Amino acid sequence: MATTISLEHEINPWEAQSARFDFAARKLNLDPNIWKVLNSPSREIIVHFPVVMDDGRIELFTGYRVQHSIARGPGKGGIRYAPDVTLDEVRALASWMTWKCAVVNIPFGGAKGGVICNPKQMSQGELERMTRRYTSEIIEFIGPEKDVPAPDMNTNEQTMAWIMDTYSMHMGHTVTSVVTGKPLNIGGSRGRKEATGRGIKVICDQSLNYLHMPQQGCRVIVQGFGNVGSNAARLLHDAGYKVIGIAEYDGGLFNPAGIDIHQLLEFKDRNGSILGFPNAEAVPSDEVMVSECDILIPAATENVITSRNADRIQARIIVEGANGPTTAVADEILAEKRIFVMPDILANSGGVTASYFEWVQDRMGYFWREADVIERLENIMKDSFDDVVRYAEAHGVNNRIAAYMLAIDRVAFTIKQRGIYA
Ligand code: GLU
Repeated sequence: MATTISLEHEINPWEAQSARFDFAARKLNLDPNIWKVLNSPSREIIVHFPVVMDDGRIELFTGYRVQHSIARGPGKGGIRYAPDVTLDEVRALASWMTWKCAVVNIPFGGAKGGVICNPKQMSQGELERMTRRYTSEIIEFIGPEKDVPAPDMNTNEQTMAWIMDTYSMHMGHTVTSVVTGKPLNIGGSRGRKEATGRGIKVICDQSLNYLHMPQQGCRVIVQGFGNVGSNAARLLHDAGYKVIGIAEYDGGLFNPAGIDIHQLLEFKDRNGSILGFPNAEAVPSDEVMVSECDILIPAATENVITSRNADRIQARIIVEGANGPTTAVADEILAEKRIFVMPDILANSGGVTASYFEWVQDRMGYFWREADVIERLENIMKDSFDDVVRYAEAHGVNNRIAAYMLAIDRVAFTIKQRGIYA
C-alpha cells in the first residue's frame, strides 16, 4: 500500500477498497482470472429521474445501484441519501458488502445504492415521492432473489416501507422480502434496528477477551451518534463499559467519569442534538477523537481516520462501526502504533446479519422472538471474530487484511465452483 499519495486519492473510498483488495489478493496468491472478476463491480446502474417538489417545481435527481458480486447469493446492501454521494463511493460500499457477507458467511453478494439529495431539507412527501420513483427506476434489478436493499445513512424503516410498497404494487402482490430493515408490522425483524450496535458490542467484548483486558470500566469513545453509534454506546454502557466521549458532526462531549447514555438519548430526543448536554464537557469532535481511551468506535461515515489524525489517536483498540472510516494510509500508521483494529467488514456486520434473518423470516412467514435473533446474531459475530483473528495469526497479517483474505477466498471458491457462464 502506497504511503505518499495525495489526500484526495487517499480519501477516495474505491481507492481505499482497492488498496486492501489488491494487498489481500496478492497475499492469497489469487488466481489472476478471478482477480479480474472481483476487481470491478458486475453491474452499475445510474438513473436520472424527476420528482415533483412541494412547491410544484420539478427536481431532477441522480441515483445509483451498484451490484459488486452476486456469486454467493442475491445482492445485499443499503441505500444512502446524501448530497455528496458519488459513484465511486457506492462502488466501494457495494464491494464492502460482498466482503462483509462473506466474512460472516451469509448467502448474499454485495450491492449498494445511493441518491444525491439533501434529505434534511426535504419534506416527508418529497422524500416519499423520490423514494418511490427511484425504486421504480431500478425495479427490474431488485427483488428477493436478485438484490435486496436495506437502510443506510439517512434512510430508515419508513424508506424501506415505501420501497416495499412500490415494488409490491408493480408485482401485484405484497413482497416483504424485497427489502430488509422494515417496520415490524410489515415483515420487519425483531432486533434489526439495534443489530449493528449489538454486533459492535460483541466485537468489543471479544477483543477485550482476546487482549486480556477487563470489560468493567473500559473507556470508550464513540464517533457518530446515529442508529449505529447510539445503540452501540447504549449497549456498552449497560454492560459496564464507560463511554467517556461522543464526537458528533456538530460538536463533541467528554466526561472522564463516563456519560450516562440513557440520559443523553433522552436529551437528544428532546433537543434534536447532543449539544448542550449538561453532564459532560463540550469539546470539539476532532479533539474527542484523539483523546486517550481503550476503545475508539468510528460509527458515522468514511474517512474519519486519515493520515491527518492517525498518529494522534490514543486508543488501544479501534472497532469500526461505519463503513470505510479508516483510509489505507492511516492503516499503516495505526499498525506502527500497534493499535488493534477490528475492520468494518467484520465489526459492523451485525446489521446485515440481522437483515439476513429478516429475509429468512419473510420467506418463511414465521417470525422469531427477539431472544432468538439476539442469540443467533451473537453466535455468528463470535464465530466470525474467531475466524478473522485465527486467520490473522496463521498468515501473519493484521485483522483487516485477514478479513479481506478470508472473504476473497470464500467468494473466489464459489466463483470457481459455479464456473463462468458462456
Ligand atoms: N447498510 C448496512 C451496511 O452497510 C446494512 C446493509 C443490509 O442490511 O443489507 O451494512
